[in-house]
Amino acid sequence: TPALRLVGVERHYKEGSGKLSILTGADLAIYPGEIVALVAPSGAGKSTVLHMAGLLERPDGGDVEIGGRLAGSLGDADRTAIRRLEIGFVYQFHHLLPEFTALENVMMPQLIRGLGRKEAARRAAELLAYMKLEARVTHRPSELSGGEQQRVAIARAVANAPRLLLADEPTGNLDPKTSHYVFDALEALVRASGLAALFVTHNMELAERMDRRITLEAGKIVEF
Ligand code: ADP
Ligand code: ADP
Repeated sequence: TPALRLVGVERHYKEGSGKLSILTGADLAIYPGEIVALVAPSGAGKSTVLHMAGLLERPDGGDVEIGGRLAGSLGDADRTAIRRLEIGFVYQFHHLLPEFTALENVMMPQLIRGLGRKEAARRAAELLAYMKLEARVTHRPSELSGGEQQRVAIARAVANAPRLLLADEPTGNLDPKTSHYVFDALEALVRASGLAALFVTHNMELAERMDRRITLEAGKIVEF
């Protein structure tokens, strides 16, 4: 079962009196344990693909399947539940809570889901160790380097063990060496957990390290 499937996804925006077609029948399947790079010029529709895949917006045509379940016919409450439990998000800017430690930031999604403090702390510590941050658990975001902040953000994104990770240029403001180091950590996590990842990047060297590379051409997804 693919972790994520886009089936003929269409997305059109209003533009003056006409429409701007960004996705015109986009198809994609990403399987557990796979990391797929999405590389395309600015304005091509990368964020739109992530919004569709993350069930943040509904497509104008076609459908999105998460773990074998078509989302199109589901109501907003079910879509939100899938988004919270089965999908993790990381962004170019980490959005960590500044007044909380790394450990507490990673515990947060689990506490929100209703897990006990002790269990949440155990898993958060395990994930931070996985990210090679065991010496940083009590640091606040401002006390961490950019690469460390992004690794905490990845740990937080997978804290509830989602089946799919959507990453929107998480290394976009990091230098190349740090970007590769962050990717090393993510890759180890994906291989160990069977997580599937869709990773938007402009860094071709990083994209070359991923399992597959896709781009957008005339509103459709093509491999390259
Ligand atoms: P990318 O992430 O590749 O830069 P986006 O998916 O953000 O591209 O946007 C693709 C195109 O769609 C852009 O031209 C953008 O201006 C337009 N667009 C995105 N969202 C909206 C929206 N909500 N309303 C109108 N136009 C939008
Ligand atoms: P557990 O829930 O007992 O930690 P998992 O099957 O979830 O077991 O994970 C197996 C191992 O893979 C964990 O011990 C953990 O170190 C590592 N792991 C890292 N990230 C994840 C993740 N997002 N999901 C599952 N496992 C992960």
